[in-house]
Amino acid sequence: MKKFTKILALLAVLCLVLSCAACGSKDTEKLVMGTNASFPPYEFTDDAGNIVGIDAEIAAAVAEKLGKELEIKDMDFDSLLTAVQSGSIDFALAGMTVTDERKETVDFSDTYATGVQVVIVSENSAIKTVDDLQGKKIGVQTGTTGDIYCTDDYGQDMVKQYQNGALAVAALKNGQVDCVVIDNEPAKNYVKANEGLIILETEYVKEDYAAAISKDNNELLEDFNKALKELKEEGKIDEIINKYIPAE
Ligand code: GLN
Repeated sequence: MKKFTKILALLAVLCLVLSCAACGSKDTEKLVMGTNASFPPYEFTDDAGNIVGIDAEIAAAVAEKLGKELEIKDMDFDSLLTAVQSGSIDFALAGMTVTDERKETVDFSDTYATGVQVVIVSENSAIKTVDDLQGKKIGVQTGTTGDIYCTDDYGQDMVKQYQNGALAVAALKNGQVDCVVIDNEPAKNYVKANEGLIILETEYVKEDYAAAISKDNNELLEDFNKALKELKEEGKIDEIINKYIPAE
């Protein structure tokens, strides 16, 4: 009898341990996003050191719908696609443009925003329109569409790569480059934060942003698109975008 009670007690403890393990893993199931937090207002670091912005909030809303806990990893923009492919992140949300070339290595979710490649110059620059870029030193962020288009159009010798937009803009201020080609919303932020810089009115290229997901993770692609669709219908995506990009 005594032995039987002991076994019962042991079994009860085992059950507790097992059920706790189950609830624990459910609570902590993570959705890992990769981004380059130097791309305001899509992603940047706030005064408290948190990564915030449009992409961070959209990802949080998607994670909530999927019942997962969001974790954000900050990395260089040109490391994101490899990280998606290797599985070290579940998806990249980084104001990333959908391109045919990138589609060869990753899948893209439905798009959630549009971007425009624009040109930042000094107020007194001789560059007045996109047509004046020939023969000028152009600063870009490594691996971005700005980098790819400018290298194609003006040649590698004319394009100077920087690890992020902030460094490219710093190089423009120091006179190391004659202009910076970057997405319009970060451009507006950088121009606002740096006196003496302006954005050319002529736009360079228009594009769509989407999340990059591994070609091996069709389940996440479907879940992500479903959540995104619901968030669009609920007006949540517009709400998040309008919060960071006030209507002009
Ligand atoms: N939209 C650009 C691209 O996809 C830049 C994105 C970024 O720098 N975060 O290449």
